[in-house]
Amino acid sequence: MPKSDRIVTDTNASFFGHPRGLATLFFTEMWERFSYYGMRALLILFMTAAVDKGGLGFDVGKAGVIYGLYTAGVYLMSLPGGWVADRIFGQRRAVLYGGILIALGQFSLGVHALPFFFLGLALLVVGTGLLKPNVSTMVGQLYGAEDKRRDAGFSIFYMGINLGAFFAPLACGYVGQRVNWNLGFVLAGVGMTLGLVQYVVGGKHLGEAGLHPVRPESPEAARKQKRSMEIAAVALVVVIGVPLLLSMAGMVEITAKFVGNAVGVLLIALTVGVFWWLLSSGEWTPVERKRFMATAVLFLAAALFWSAYEQAGSTLTLFADRSTDNRVLGHPYPSSWFQSLNSLFVILLAPLFAWVWIRLGKREPSSPAKFSLGLVLVGLGFVVVGIAALRTASGALVSPAWLTATYFLHTCGELSLSPVGLSAMTKLAPARVASLMMGVWFLSDAVGNYMGGRVASVYESFSTPVLFATVACFTIGLGVVLMLLVKPMKRLMGGVN
Ligand code: GLN
Repeated sequence: MPKSDRIVTDTNASFFGHPRGLATLFFTEMWERFSYYGMRALLILFMTAAVDKGGLGFDVGKAGVIYGLYTAGVYLMSLPGGWVADRIFGQRRAVLYGGILIALGQFSLGVHALPFFFLGLALLVVGTGLLKPNVSTMVGQLYGAEDKRRDAGFSIFYMGINLGAFFAPLACGYVGQRVNWNLGFVLAGVGMTLGLVQYVVGGKHLGEAGLHPVRPESPEAARKQKRSMEIAAVALVVVIGVPLLLSMAGMVEITAKFVGNAVGVLLIALTVGVFWWLLSSGEWTPVERKRFMATAVLFLAAALFWSAYEQAGSTLTLFADRSTDNRVLGHPYPSSWFQSLNSLFVILLAPLFAWVWIRLGKREPSSPAKFSLGLVLVGLGFVVVGIAALRTASGALVSPAWLTATYFLHTCGELSLSPVGLSAMTKLAPARVASLMMGVWFLSDAVGNYMGGRVASVYESFSTPVLFATVACFTIGLGVVLMLLVKPMKRLMGGVN
């Protein structure tokens, strides 16, 4: 076989019938998620552990706010991360820089000193914002416009995410909780480093993917781009500078609570701003406007879903640590291990869900119906852990079966809502703003993570049954409302499903 033929075969079908580059991106994202979820497995426990036990000794109020800020920040940074890659670096370099910052961030968390802790979180937020959206974009670039393997490629990639997320709490959780907290973070950083080495070595299989940022088409467009960058830079200086100046003047005290509240206001302003900006960009036909209303409803539903689902690393981990009898067949295990269950269930159940939707054929639920199902399921997960919490009133520990059931329901919710979420929002938006919808989707994750963190911050202010019941009421409530709205939503969506 001539050499050139062999290379074509090699890049086109050598990873489960997919381009070889998919393997490079699969393992990059697998290790990045290993790093992310390994760190997240420990974060709230480390912050709330007593100082003499090697922790930071924060109260839950503060730890919950920081958890929410960190996890929201990661998703929020995906917006500028995607933008910077599109316009300036190209995805290929953005992923490399992001990975380096992530590894440095984890190693910084490995140093037991408060400034290094906060520096580490900041590096992780910026690094993940650069890596996560862009590695996904590159997956799409591996396939030609007509290539039917694209969706399957993303499903394989999603398995990589969950493989990393499955092993991470087992490894980093064990080291962090049983050996040394900081070493747990270092292990997460080692994982990211392995991912980076693999990314650099495997880069040759990526072809042209991610190499070429979009150049402005005209001098006018270039000027506009420069202007947006200037506005962004000024906004950043104002957002960080003004509170700093106020604090130096003694007018405000910068505490976790202050930053938490400020970011809350910022997120609301950003959400309203993004939707308003989308609507004011270009002429919208009446049909487009109606569909746009539907995306706003789906956005709200997704944000509420994430706010409950992403408590995996906060309230549910606190409940695992404080109120669950962490033994299986008499053998004790670290409480952070519960965080592996979600990925385990995704790996086991994703093929089943795909099969069920196909089997249902014409009767497959519409996207709003799947969103509604997702919300109800995540809420039912909280009903289960709420009932478990009732049993801990006397100080007793409950069986791990309760949280296992909760994670099972949460995963079913995720598999209903998440795979259709982004594609529904993208299809509903007119083509001229379609690429921005990815950002809107990340924004729903950011808002959700933020809200989830606020819930975690009041973990000790309410009794756990009340707290979990409240989350259940909101999610199931909105799920039911959305169920009732399926018909009008379909009308709004005007033929898009
Ligand atoms: N578990 C998935 C990931 O880490 C999705 C999480 C989310 O969107 N909140 O990529």
